[in-house]
Amino acid sequence: MSKCGYSLDDYKCTLDVFRDGFCLFHLPKPSKAKLNQTTNEQRIFWSQVSSKFTEDFQAFFHDIETSTDVNTIEISGFIFPDSFFQGDTNKPIKFIGCHFVGVSNFDHFVFEQNVLFASTTFEEESTFVQTRFEGDVHFSTCIFKHSARFHASVFKQKCFFLDSYFNFVDFSGSEFYSYCSFSSEFRIAEYSSCLFEEKVSFRNSKFTERLYFKNPYSDADIFFGRKIAEEKPINLDFCEVKIGKNCYSVFEDIDLSKTHFMDTEKFDLIEFKNSKWFKPSGVLGLYRGNALWDEFSTAVLLRAPTPEQLSMMYHKLVIYYDRIREFNISEDFHISEMEMRRKMVSNSVKSRLGKKIREIFNFHTLYLILSRYGSSYTQSLIVFILLAVISSTFILIFGVNEYCSIANTTTALKLNISNMFKLFNFIISSMLPGVSKNSFLFTYPSSIILNISKILLLGQTSLLIFAIRRRFKR
Ligand SMILES: [Zn+2]
Repeated sequence: MSKCGYSLDDYKCTLDVFRDGFCLFHLPKPSKAKLNQTTNEQRIFWSQVSSKFTEDFQAFFHDIETSTDVNTIEISGFIFPDSFFQGDTNKPIKFIGCHFVGVSNFDHFVFEQNVLFASTTFEEESTFVQTRFEGDVHFSTCIFKHSARFHASVFKQKCFFLDSYFNFVDFSGSEFYSYCSFSSEFRIAEYSSCLFEEKVSFRNSKFTERLYFKNPYSDADIFFGRKIAEEKPINLDFCEVKIGKNCYSVFEDIDLSKTHFMDTEKFDLIEFKNSKWFKPSGVLGLYRGNALWDEFSTAVLLRAPTPEQLSMMYHKLVIYYDRIREFNISEDFHISEMEMRRKMVSNSVKSRLGKKIREIFNFHTLYLILSRYGSSYTQSLIVFILLAVISSTFILIFGVNEYCSIANTTTALKLNISNMFKLFNFIISSMLPGVSKNSFLFTYPSSIILNISKILLLGQTSLLIFAIRRRFKR
């Protein structure tokens, strides 16, 4: 009897021909759509083939499972009709260049060792519901034409979904205990209530229609009885991800304080519902509030983001948060954007030290100090008071006399708190029209200081009004 004509690289099928030059496993089988167009006779024939396939495959699988000569189960180029996998396997398993023309069901299956699906096509629905992957998992260059449901499946080791295509994939309720990478193209992808214990990478992925990411911890119902672990930020690499121009992409209740978004295409299309961002600590934390992790940790990035790039990303976040009327967060990103613009001032400077100096001495820094880039009316007010206090101190140092009209005497004022308060009061009131009742006689230097301080205070008043207006009028 002649042998099956299937071969791949150095693998040659040794099974007997079943029909058309191929064994039962390698025999091309019609898709569901094709079957619908054939005669009744044909349908009955292919249904019998399907039953025989299931029976023979079970026996074949059992043989290699129990064989002591075979360490790895390799399934190359099999063309599967509707297939249901049950139980578990103790050996590493590889599906190479296979084709599932019918549904494939791995629900509750336990892969005790490594799993590889390479260059495999799934024509119809494939389900991995509550499937357990105890070893490493690779889905490389696979095509899921229908839906792939990894609902509540468990990945104990590393998993890689590389260069694959998913029409619709649902990972909701799945648990990932090690590093995982989803560098693939997705039309619709659901990641609600997933548990990620280690780093997750979406680098270079592409989403065309929908991406939904939701944190499990804010969910009222706990998935499959899993105990709520301590909430921790996902270490997420979302660099160089391409979001399609009509893609609805959402991060909901996700802690993004350890997420990189560098070079994400259409970053402005992503919705961040109730997201948490990185909060710088120390001195920076005092005035920065929310910020992007990309700015502070460049660990996974190939090159450090430039202030221009960061400024652009911050600007997009300002627009987004303004749109959803989360003005406090929007202000934080506005401050971050201005910080980046402050750094951009030093672009033309070559030396490192020169850069640092230029970053500090420029008008952006002045704007930062005077009103924290126009966003803080409390800071503007504090600066206003400080200016008035400093002015009155200098005036007292350079000399001022008080005129007493009743006794017709003048007395030189000493530098003390009470006199400072007197002058402070005078400077403020002299700025208001019509309230100037001058009972002070200034020395020449003091009058110069007074005039300068009036100009500065007037400027600061406008910054104060601007900050109040920005805050309350949207
Ligand atoms: Zn064969």
